[in-house]
Amino acid sequence: MGGAAMTGVSHEFVEALRAAAPTAVIEREAPLARFTTMRVGGPADVLASVSSTRDAEVLVGVARAHRVPVTVLGGGSNVLVSDAGVRGLTLRIHGGDVIQTDAHGVRVDAGVTMNGLVRWLAGRGLAGLEAWAGTPGTVGGAICGNAHFQGRLISEHVRSVRILQRSGQVEDVPAEAMAFGYDRSRIQQSGDVVLSVVFAVTPGASPDALRAEARASLAFRKRTQPLHQASAGCIFQNPGPATPVPDGVPRSAGALIDRAGLKGARAGGALVSPLHANFIVAAPGSRAADVRALVERCREAVAQASGVRLDEEIVYLGDWEVGPALPLDCARGTRARPSPPSESDH
Ligand SMILES: Cc1cc2nc3c(=O)[nH]c(=O)nc-3n(C[C@H](O)[C@H](O)[C@H](O)COP(=O)(O)OP(=O)(O)OC[C@H]3O[C@@H](n4cnc5c(N)ncnc54)[C@H](O)[C@@H]3O)c2cc1C
Repeated sequence: MGGAAMTGVSHEFVEALRAAAPTAVIEREAPLARFTTMRVGGPADVLASVSSTRDAEVLVGVARAHRVPVTVLGGGSNVLVSDAGVRGLTLRIHGGDVIQTDAHGVRVDAGVTMNGLVRWLAGRGLAGLEAWAGTPGTVGGAICGNAHFQGRLISEHVRSVRILQRSGQVEDVPAEAMAFGYDRSRIQQSGDVVLSVVFAVTPGASPDALRAEARASLAFRKRTQPLHQASAGCIFQNPGPATPVPDGVPRSAGALIDRAGLKGARAGGALVSPLHANFIVAAPGSRAADVRALVERCREAVAQASGVRLDEEIVYLGDWEVGPALPLDCARGTRARPSPPSESDH
């Protein structure tokens, strides 16, 4: 969202936010680590937590009028917030409603969790999304990064997305116009806010069968991912089909990091997970800089060992003192350029 970069926000701005959305929770200098699964990073100049899409619209309008940059946070499960924190307004969208639009469709607010959605659908015998059980975070975050699991993309189930544009205009965008790809959607470029999503579902399934499928997905994750430790999921995207990888090595970022000998490597409190090398886990009290240093170390080691350049799946939010190769955009965070589709690590 627009607005010149700035440090701190004015008292008038905070009061304008409070007046515009009295039910939103507005906090100054609000620590963000507690709202991320990596549990590191500094404060937001101002944090607005909203569960209504109307409040999200109104607050973004206030920020636009005051020329304050907006950063959107969902479940915080795919981000690394810098130790310096995030300038301007951080809009945390959580909660909301699910409604059935017709026999084959549901509209879901952006702040609903993926797990909550799967439960809601299973209880009504609506099939399609049960394998997404255990994907942390919200529907808005899943759309922004086009969440993937075992080679499938969440966009395969999307009919349309209601977005709030930078201009303040609300638009229903059909899935075909969302520029979905592996780890990619148009939201990453536009900085628009996802307000709600219409998913295609299939009625008439047995709730018990759907719950069993969801449990199987969760069991797979428990076996293969360090779920009891703080992480942001997979750090890197898997290399696309156009990227050459050494013979006999799977097209998987985790396998490449493992091959480079970095399983168990540390930087400060950050550790390359011995269970899944594409996960970096952070001990309590770690710094975001530790995690970032380990990310860079993995990238360099893989480049040396296999000649493959890995790009991040995670999104960097806030102020980062890093080289010119990583330009900062407060509106949507930064990420490396996306890779084409490939086999999934998840
Ligand atoms: C243990 C673990 C397992 C994981 N497994 C998977 C997996 O199987 N597959 C997978 O794809 N990912 C996985 N992830 C990563 C993460 O869960 C997903 O990327 C998830 O979809 C992110 O959603 P979120 O709400 O947490 O987004 P956040 O982390 O809050 O944000 C991610 C990006 O989305 C943007 N964003 C969030 N909400 C909105 C919105 N309403 N409008 C516009 N932009 C928005 C943010 O600005 C940010 O750029 C895993 C993570 C963990 C910790």
